Amino acid sequence: MRLRHIPGSEETIAASPYVVRQPWEYRGRFGELFGNDNRIEIEVGMGKGKFIMELAASNPQVNYLGIERYPSVLLRAISKRQELELSNIYFLCIDAKALEEIFAPGEVTRIYLNFSDPWPKERHAKRRLTSPEFMKVYGQILKKDGTVEFKTDNQELFTYSLESISKAGWQILCSTRDLHNSAMAEGNVMTEYETKFSSRGNPICKLIAGREPAYTISEE
Ligand code: SAM
Repeated sequence: MRLRHIPGSEETIAASPYVVRQPWEYRGRFGELFGNDNRIEIEVGMGKGKFIMELAASNPQVNYLGIERYPSVLLRAISKRQELELSNIYFLCIDAKALEEIFAPGEVTRIYLNFSDPWPKERHAKRRLTSPEFMKVYGQILKKDGTVEFKTDNQELFTYSLESISKAGWQILCSTRDLHNSAMAEGNVMTEYETKFSSRGNPICKLIAGREPAYTISEE
C-alpha cells in the first residue's frame, strides 16, 4: 500500500466517532462499547477496510473491530464508513504489537489477517503477522476455540506461515493454495488486495488455524 502522510489525518481520526480513542480503557469490556455481549472479531491490518465493513453489514449479530496502524490509511476506511448505517463496527489506530494491552485474555473470537505485509528479509521475520511471536499474542487474546484466518497471494509467505503457525503449537484446521476454486470459497468476502491480485491471475491462498483440532481438511 502506497503510504504518504496526509496533513490533518491524526486530527480527523481523533474526532471521528468511528475510531476508539484510548482503546485500552475498554480492555475486558468491549461489550460496553457495542452495548451488547455479541462475539468480537477483529481484522489486523485492515487497510481501507472493505472486507471488515462488508462482514459487519452481513453479520449484525457480530461485533467487529478493524485495526490499522497508519492514520493516512485509516482515513480511507473512515470516509467509506461514513456512508454506511452500521452499529457493529469500530476502528482502532494501533500497532498489532499492542493487542495484549487492548484485549483481555479470551476476549476475541476470531482474528482475520488479510494480505499482510510479507517482510521478505529474514532479519524482519518477526514483523510478519503470522510469526510465532504474533501467534503467541493472538493465543492470549483469543477464546480457547477461537481461530485465526489468513489470506495472501504470496506463496513464500504462505509456506512460511504454514510452518511458523504449526511450530507455534497451533493446528492448521484447513488450507488451500487456490481459494477461489476450492470448497473454502463458500461465503468468501474479497479484500481490496484480493480483488487486485486475483484480477491479475494470482491464486489466493487461505488457512484457518486454531488450538483445538475440531476438524482438519487440507487441500494442500
Ligand atoms: N487487509 C487489506 C487488504 O487485504 O486489502 C490491506 C492489506 S495491506 C498489504 C496491509 C495493511 O496492514 C497495511 O494497511 C498496513 O499498514 C497494515 N499493517 C501492517 N502491519 C501492521 C501492524 N503491525 N499493525 C497494524 N496494522 C498493520
